[in-house]
Amino acid sequence: MIRLPISTPHVALTHPTDAAPQVVHGLLDQGARVTVVCEAADARMADLASRGLVTVATEVPGDAEVVLRCPAPTPAPVTLPRGTGRVTLVGGGPGDPGLLTLAGLEAVKSADVLVCDRLAPLGVLDEAPAHAEVIHVGKIPRGGFTPQERINAVLLEHALAGRHVVRLKGGDNFVFGRGGEEWNACVEAGVPVTVVPGVTSSVAAPALAGIPVTHRSVTQGFVVVSGHVGPDDGRSTTDWGALARTGLTIVVLMGVAELPMIAERLVEHGLAPDTPAASVADAGMPSMRVARATLADIAETAAEQGISAPAVTIIGATVHALAQQDALPRFSDGSAPSLTSAKERSA
Ligand code: SAH
Repeated sequence: MIRLPISTPHVALTHPTDAAPQVVHGLLDQGARVTVVCEAADARMADLASRGLVTVATEVPGDAEVVLRCPAPTPAPVTLPRGTGRVTLVGGGPGDPGLLTLAGLEAVKSADVLVCDRLAPLGVLDEAPAHAEVIHVGKIPRGGFTPQERINAVLLEHALAGRHVVRLKGGDNFVFGRGGEEWNACVEAGVPVTVVPGVTSSVAAPALAGIPVTHRSVTQGFVVVSGHVGPDDGRSTTDWGALARTGLTIVVLMGVAELPMIAERLVEHGLAPDTPAASVADAGMPSMRVARATLADIAETAAEQGISAPAVTIIGATVHALAQQDALPRFSDGSAPSLTSAKERSA
């Protein structure tokens, strides 16, 4: 971990390498404001910039307090560790390292190979052993995409070579995380596999915005649904009419693009247009944004207020259940830090 000399500096990160996402997350976790200096941002940097986590510039900004050259990525291990390999599926939580479990951290500390997605808490890669190889896979909006079959093959290849492979994902691996497919691939290949459950964004994102997914006398449950395939898409197998009638809090993941159609169908199927709703983007990150409205207005309000993926939408009366909604600690200037940087700053 690169330790910063002053409390909340503006850091210019030059010559970004494959290690840049990890370095950026480590700096953000310490409360820094980061400008990435390069001629052309690659997909990963463009993704971080579009989420408001970094600024991209072609020259070092005049007000940068620290200029850092991005280190080279960790080289692949030369010698193979002895013994049987294995795979640990680790749920990393919504992005703040403070929301990774202790068991998850232990797994990271004992990894020979870490296979990570962009929504994983990449700052914790600093805790991995020096010899550990970090492999970035998964899907970056408008950028690289590693097919699931290839990810399975990478996990098996390293585990069969005797390494401890940690599959680090955002949230929980079994909630829209394809963890089940990875588990089955390991079992089929005779590779020992275990899972460390993670804090899923479907519960954590609402909580960080001051929204409980259940509340006594308000609702008797909640349902988590993917909005990736919208209600008008022939591939959708979700009964949106049934959802509208459940009386449960509805939590929609991967639903930014389809939100207008989802809201419209729920209203058509009888859910009151004035049902409270909220969208929470980049929960737990310094760029977290929350938009609140009614079901009828949430799509428009979310778009107006800059909600973009990754975001969770909550529909139901629990959106208004808490008296004090601002659950995330804030500094005197009103900024909302990540949980970890809040702890470090107040220490
Ligand atoms: N396994 C993950 C979900 C993966 S699907 C989990 O349990 O959280 C990816 C979706 O998760 C995103 O499109 C978004 O809906 C949600 N998501 C993940 N991280 C998020 C975050 N920090 N803030 C808001 N939504 C998030």
